[in-house]
Amino acid sequence: KPYKLVQIDEVRWEIPRTGKMRVPGLIYTDARTLPDIEKDESADQVYNVAQLPGIVGRSLAMPDVHWGYGFPIGGVAAFDEHEGVVSPGGVGYDINCGVRIALTGLNKESLYPRIRPLIDSFFAKVPSGVGSRGGIRLNKSELSKVLKAGAAWAVSQGMGEESDLDRIEAGGALQGADPSVVSDRAFERGKDQLGTLGSGNHFLEIGFIEKIFDEDTAAQWGIVQDQVTVMVHSGSRGLGYQVCDDFLARMVKSVAAEGIELPDRQLACTRLHTPLAREYLGAMAAAANFAFANRQILMHLARTTWEKSLGISPRELQFRLLYDVCHNVAKFEMHTLNGQKRRVMVHRKGATRAFPKNHPELSEVYRSTGQPVLIPGDMGRASYILAGQEGAMNETFGSACHGAGRILSRHEALRQTKGRSIERELQDQNVYPRWVGRKTLREEFPHAYKDVSIVVDVVQRAGLARKVARIRPMGVVKG
Ligand code: 5GP
Ligand code: MN
Ligand code: MN
Repeated sequence: KPYKLVQIDEVRWEIPRTGKMRVPGLIYTDARTLPDIEKDESADQVYNVAQLPGIVGRSLAMPDVHWGYGFPIGGVAAFDEHEGVVSPGGVGYDINCGVRIALTGLNKESLYPRIRPLIDSFFAKVPSGVGSRGGIRLNKSELSKVLKAGAAWAVSQGMGEESDLDRIEAGGALQGADPSVVSDRAFERGKDQLGTLGSGNHFLEIGFIEKIFDEDTAAQWGIVQDQVTVMVHSGSRGLGYQVCDDFLARMVKSVAAEGIELPDRQLACTRLHTPLAREYLGAMAAAANFAFANRQILMHLARTTWEKSLGISPRELQFRLLYDVCHNVAKFEMHTLNGQKRRVMVHRKGATRAFPKNHPELSEVYRSTGQPVLIPGDMGRASYILAGQEGAMNETFGSACHGAGRILSRHEALRQTKGRSIERELQDQNVYPRWVGRKTLREEFPHAYKDVSIVVDVVQRAGLARKVARIRPMGVVKG
């Protein structure tokens, strides 16, 4: 390898600046997760990203890091607004893939006897699977409104409430969305995919609060022991994928003209002051807003399906949004570097914003606690709710991990689960699964992912976010 990986302390490994690196790399991990990171090429990718023009601070990776297109999944990189670049590979194909969690007034005992009919009705009502369509079909001009308004569009159609918007990152809409730079092909792919879950890794999961770590914060957020929760993981579907694809193709060509030298073609990017950057940012924000609307619709669908199928009143269900986070996005944000406030383009790819208390971008609701940081783990073991901490502002441009992170490729997961019934194994652990793809359950079996408890422990020890509560799954719909 052309670089060294040097241990700094118990949870930090540095790639000191060498060769064409403009900044050092920093990987958050500990002795337990380090072997997984050394096995794939994610450290190489951290090293590559550190060579991009205008990168500031450090090229960062969270403990859930694994190989991704160009940039690692679990990576964070920020670029100077004048000298820097924006890169579609630093956002990912699933623009604004993200997670939202809703809380309910039910507890696990009352729900367990009815978890099967509930999951069965979600499975029947929530369109899922690779090419899933249905949900809501819109013409181009109506879809353009979605691309500008994001979650607020869904609220305007009666799906959810105005107060939900204070519980969504960026209020449920990125500024600067420009539907006119979204290709016809992307519109075509998105027009009947609003309100659909998507494939394999995306899910709708029912769980309960198994453990509370931070009593004060949990109380402020209305989280109690044994409370039933709903989690949705989905993104911008075919529309976002197409936007990424369209702009990668253009940037692969523009790179040479801009005099940018890349260690890897997949890092294709453009300088932030170019018209191409403006177009990508406009299209990316539009796709992100599609995803915000998508999750808002999916959650509404879950709520109404629940009320109907179990014949439960809204009063009893007490369904309310806790928060909605993006984990594939790039945004201009203000950050302090060497004591200087600067506007930088933060790329979070498989990373979650983790703003601490008193951050001016947080809505009033979370000003005094820091924002909820939602970390799915896997369908068999656990997921976590964390709160953003000051350390994230000092070190990671206000970011933490986004999940447990894959350790087995889909292919390897299939190999290791040959002849096993994952359905039965999950049911033995009191998790009732329904799924669409023929191989989904084996490709997504719990041990295809790292142990989320270890990942979250590293994040907490590094001071990026603190544990508030752990969720245990009860039933899941997978694409
Ligand atoms: P990604 O966006 O990278 O595909 O997935 C984010 C994270 O979701 C993964 O790293 C994994 O830890 C988690 N995850 C994947 N499938 C499931 C699931 O069915 N249930 C839960 N709770 N988490 C999952
Ligand atoms: Mn996704
Ligand atoms: Mn995702």
